[in-house]
Amino acid sequence: KITLFWFRRDLRLEDNTGLFYALQQEQNVLPLFIFDQNILEKLEDKADARVEFIHAQLSEIKTQLEQKGSTLLVKFGKPEEVYASLLTQYEIQAVYTNRDYEPYAKERDHAVDLLLKEKGAALFSFKDQVIFEPGEILNGSGEFYKVFTPFSRNWLDKYKQTKVQPLQNPNWKNLLQTSPIPMPSLEEIGFVKTGIPIPPKITDEAIISHYDQTRNFPAQKGTTRLGIHLRFGTISVRQLAQVGARLNETYLNELIWREFYMMILAFNPQVVDKAFKPAYDRIPWRNNPEEFRAWCEGKTGYPIVDAGMRELNETGYMHNRVRMIVASFLTKHLLIDWRWGESYFAKKLLDFELASNNGGWQWAASTGTDAQPYFRVFNPDSQTEKFDKDLKYIKKWIPEFGTDKYPKPIVDHKFARARALETYKKALEQ
Ligand code: FAD
Repeated sequence: KITLFWFRRDLRLEDNTGLFYALQQEQNVLPLFIFDQNILEKLEDKADARVEFIHAQLSEIKTQLEQKGSTLLVKFGKPEEVYASLLTQYEIQAVYTNRDYEPYAKERDHAVDLLLKEKGAALFSFKDQVIFEPGEILNGSGEFYKVFTPFSRNWLDKYKQTKVQPLQNPNWKNLLQTSPIPMPSLEEIGFVKTGIPIPPKITDEAIISHYDQTRNFPAQKGTTRLGIHLRFGTISVRQLAQVGARLNETYLNELIWREFYMMILAFNPQVVDKAFKPAYDRIPWRNNPEEFRAWCEGKTGYPIVDAGMRELNETGYMHNRVRMIVASFLTKHLLIDWRWGESYFAKKLLDFELASNNGGWQWAASTGTDAQPYFRVFNPDSQTEKFDKDLKYIKKWIPEFGTDKYPKPIVDHKFARARALETYKKALEQ
């Protein structure tokens, strides 16, 4: 009889809650990862740095497990079908895993749970990717918070009361001892290498110490760039929260935003394709395809917007301040549906995370909960003046800046601002 530990977005051996408890409570634990065909099929570009990253991370975990006399079982397919086949191959008594709160993940886990139950096996799930999961931080009436500040206050109080500690020294002797099982190559799962570098998994305490002063300046290395590691769990959020609590609460506050948006999505799964505030779905988006293309390519003639889009296209990363500016520009200056921008980001961002991406876009478009009021339209020039005064970031990403090769603005700021205000106002008055 064996127990499986099912890795998903928790690709690490240290401080991994579900794995820790599997090894504490069961014997013959065999770790498993499934390249989920349902997810991979949706990725149009087969050169995807995130898939490449997951693959590389799994190879590393597999080597580490093999040094302990065990291995990592890596499958490619639809999770239910993979489990149906594993149940015929192994005598599985339980599956341990860490909870995932996205709508698709919840459905998938429910289906797998039913399948396992039919065969007399149990699915045990644990909290791992967050400090507090959706439902743990509620207001006085037991409802979810719609506003961030009271949510974050409650979160911080609870964090200070609860001793959230990383888990140490898992009981490795309960791993199934077995010879290595080969894993499929990147090509075998339908993908190719990209050459895009992944920001290293280093917790730079100097950056976190100065975070409140440096985080808004895109030309500086003033944020951690650990987004992808939080996304795939190659780093533990408990470890980062501890560092934040010790060094800089502004940084900790950003980790709380991450959990706020996860909570919003869990309680309001409709936000995946609808405005959180339904009236905002009445906005008649212009959705001009040429303007959208100019935005995607970083050719709007607004340097701070274009620099951001080029950074994204080249590296899979964009600084948070610039994400806010480009998202505001797309939705307000160009009146293009936030869902178009959201899905472009979803394709390109290494740290793409459904909840934060949706939350960030709905914030910028003013359609979200606790969003920017609709009449606030970022002025790209004053944002540049405040956050990239020396034009260092702009010049880095736009080599032709200042020459006649650089395009003229595709829309006049004053005109666009007035048009946005009028369009939003009219739609909301209906
Ligand atoms: P740091 O500044 O070092 O922050 C630490 C961590 O806190 C981040 O890694 C992230 O996990 C979390 N975090 C920081 N800011 C936010 C925020 N505003 N909301 C939620 N979590 C936050 N973040 C994503 O992780 N995935 C996305 O797909 C995503 N899309 C976004 C889209 C838009 C339009 C906007 C405005 C923001 C988006 N963000 C997203 C939030 C934020 O921009 C990124 O988390 C951050 O820029 C990542 O860089 P970093 O790792 O250096 O973050």
